[in-house]
Amino acid sequence: MNKIIYVDVDGVLNFNEKCEGSFDYWVDFDDGTKPGYVRLNKNHGPWLLNLAKETGSELMWATSWLDLANIYIGPQIGLPELPVLNFGPQKFSEYNGAWKSRGMAEKSDGRPFLWFDDDFTIAQYLKYDKLDYPYKVQEIGGRIGITKDDIYQAYTWLSEL
Ligand SMILES: [Mg+2]
Repeated sequence: MNKIIYVDVDGVLNFNEKCEGSFDYWVDFDDGTKPGYVRLNKNHGPWLLNLAKETGSELMWATSWLDLANIYIGPQIGLPELPVLNFGPQKFSEYNGAWKSRGMAEKSDGRPFLWFDDDFTIAQYLKYDKLDYPYKVQEIGGRIGITKDDIYQAYTWLSEL
């Protein structure tokens, strides 16, 4: 399996507004972090799994939730345990987009990737990292997370690689 689909959590799978398929899930962290609700969409897991299957891609987490995504997010929407991209330490005052894209440039290892994220600065930072292989940042609006249209656009791009 060659291509990668990276998935962010906040603003992508965890979002603000109620919509078809959405439900609220109470996250009670066991490490002392303040608990709270996440709003998820039961369709997101099946959509992503199908996208990966149809395009011969591998799903991976690309989120500051890191391993916690496999505990608190994936299982609630029907995703199996996924590999986690570890971005490495974030430098003080470094923008989220710069931090994530630097880790990505180091760790994608030449594999083409599509990245679902609501941080609109990421595509810009990736340009500075001068990747010489195909990539696409599918920018997610954040209000209701990934939509069917986002999946369709991702499918089109991944299929044509
Ligand atoms: Mg986000």
